[in-house]
Amino acid sequence: MTRNDSTSPILRVPEWTQRFPWLWHGFSTRAGGVSSVYGAAEGRSGELNLGYTTEDDPERVCENRLRLVEWVSGSRATPLVVLRQIHSGTSVALRSEEPLWKEPPQADGILSDRPGVLLAVQTADCIPVLVADPERRVVATFHAGWRGTVQRIVEEGIARMQAEYGCAPEQLVAAIGPGIGGCCYAVGEELRTRFTAQFLYADVLFRSSAEGELFLELREANRRQLLDAGVRADQIEVAGGCTQCDAQRFFSYRGQMCRTGRMMSVIGIGN
Ligand SMILES: [Zn+2]
Repeated sequence: MTRNDSTSPILRVPEWTQRFPWLWHGFSTRAGGVSSVYGAAEGRSGELNLGYTTEDDPERVCENRLRLVEWVSGSRATPLVVLRQIHSGTSVALRSEEPLWKEPPQADGILSDRPGVLLAVQTADCIPVLVADPERRVVATFHAGWRGTVQRIVEEGIARMQAEYGCAPEQLVAAIGPGIGGCCYAVGEELRTRFTAQFLYADVLFRSSAEGELFLELREANRRQLLDAGVRADQIEVAGGCTQCDAQRFFSYRGQMCRTGRMMSVIGIGN
């Protein structure tokens, strides 16, 4: 299987693959692994669960992670840098000179200029966002659920890229990956209150159905944060759709009643 084969289970950003051949990146899907615990009822097997969830066999998850790393970087030996995600607005920088973390830090974003490693966040409905500075060769990945979004994980993360590495926002490229869409993400009124307190554009993120249900468009919220941080609109790509609508293709925490696998969104500086 070639890396950009249409049968590859990893979603890539075609523009990036063309323009930045050195930029490792991808959003995983359910396909291509060795897990069977989540799709068993539907007769599915060979799933790519990348989270050490209570239901799955850790050895299978480990094999799935090695496959992901190999598909994206070309080698199973490439270190995969992960977080202990806590739905915060905090990102951490992995510096070139420091050793790899022994324990995953508690945070929801990683930025680095270190070549040869893959930075990862895990999601199953939350919004993954990848960012790269092709000039300075700095990369970042963010996990944005509603809590992280309200805490401006993406906006703060890009400010951090500027502060730590001197990145110019207008030179950044960004990609928003598969996550729950405004079509499915029913939320309570308290979320609208919280978003309205934080964002001038909060109104456009919410939609009320005829039945009076309220829906939140988290991907648009994160696109707005990219724009507010200074990323150019024409440099923001969207990969994949709504995880709950497309539960055949993606793990969805809501779609599978909280019992589901995890996908990973990875980025790194290759050769
Ligand atoms: Zn949907």
